[in-house]
Amino acid sequence: MSATLLMGKPIADKITEELKKEIAALKEKHDIAPSLASVLVGDDPASKSYAGRQQKSAVAAGINYQLHELPGDISEQKLIDFIEELNRDSSVNGIIVQIPLPEGIDEYKVQSAIAQKKDVEGVTPANMGLIVYERPRLCPCTALSAIKMVESTGVDVYGKNLTVVGRSAIVGKPAALLMLQRKYSATTTVCHTGTAKAGNLPKHVGNADILIAAAGSPELIKGEWIKEGSIVVDVGFNWVGGKAVGDVEFEAAKEKAAYITPVPGGVGPLTVTILLQNTVEATRWQLE
Ligand code: NAD
Repeated sequence: MSATLLMGKPIADKITEELKKEIAALKEKHDIAPSLASVLVGDDPASKSYAGRQQKSAVAAGINYQLHELPGDISEQKLIDFIEELNRDSSVNGIIVQIPLPEGIDEYKVQSAIAQKKDVEGVTPANMGLIVYERPRLCPCTALSAIKMVESTGVDVYGKNLTVVGRSAIVGKPAALLMLQRKYSATTTVCHTGTAKAGNLPKHVGNADILIAAAGSPELIKGEWIKEGSIVVDVGFNWVGGKAVGDVEFEAAKEKAAYITPVPGGVGPLTVTILLQNTVEATRWQLE
């Protein structure tokens, strides 16, 4: 039987409706409208288009969006100084630094400069650390979107086997750590390039009641490896011959899984909404 498709848009729309109410309440109670500052360094076309989509969604939800375009040859120190200015600016509630940054600029150093309570992408070491302590506040948007997709199935994940493929700091690792929290208690395995080199990917994927694929490698995960009746969340977004392709061999996988996210249309449409949700959460945190 073919899997139920998990689409991002209806979930995103539902969250946006809730956010609108919360934003109206913030306005009424504190006379504040959440404000998001986006820092775009250089002229990467993909980042520009992503920032444009963020702006459209933010404005539609009632969040102010300021785009700060900085020259591609800016020094690392000047960029950090600019972020520190935004940290001090009380009219800014959230800060995003569009990635990738030009060569020679250390992304970790720049992102670590963002004030913890304004870190709406959950990329600072301080916010990552809170996940380890099971006190998450602002979490990486894509990792959180993957979890929301799993939650949307209504399936109880307690004690089930979760395999995450990918160990990046913004997707794989936080997704795994979030699902390790006692409230989910998934039995979590994290696979990476070393797992693939050792030939162990099929085994760990085959064991997964829930699979989160975030490797950035087109159709790396073969349909035949997928466990019957599992939940498959494909975070991967790869361009192949002008077409967006996930990390999972979709057509074959959907014949084995119970639920699966398509690419495009699955996780992707949710990530901007989670960013807006984080902006509202950041605003609340600053008011505490
Ligand atoms: P990344 O390159 O930083 O990390 C990929 C990870 O996957 C690495 O840890 C690596 O060890 C692992 N990996 C790579 N190739 C592998 C292989 N052959 N076998 C096993 N493991 C392998 O990427 P990322 O930033 O975590 O993004 C992952 C994917 O998610 C990309 O396709 C990216 O485009 C997509 N993404 C989508 C969204 C969205 O909004 N939908 C947002 C962010 C990232």
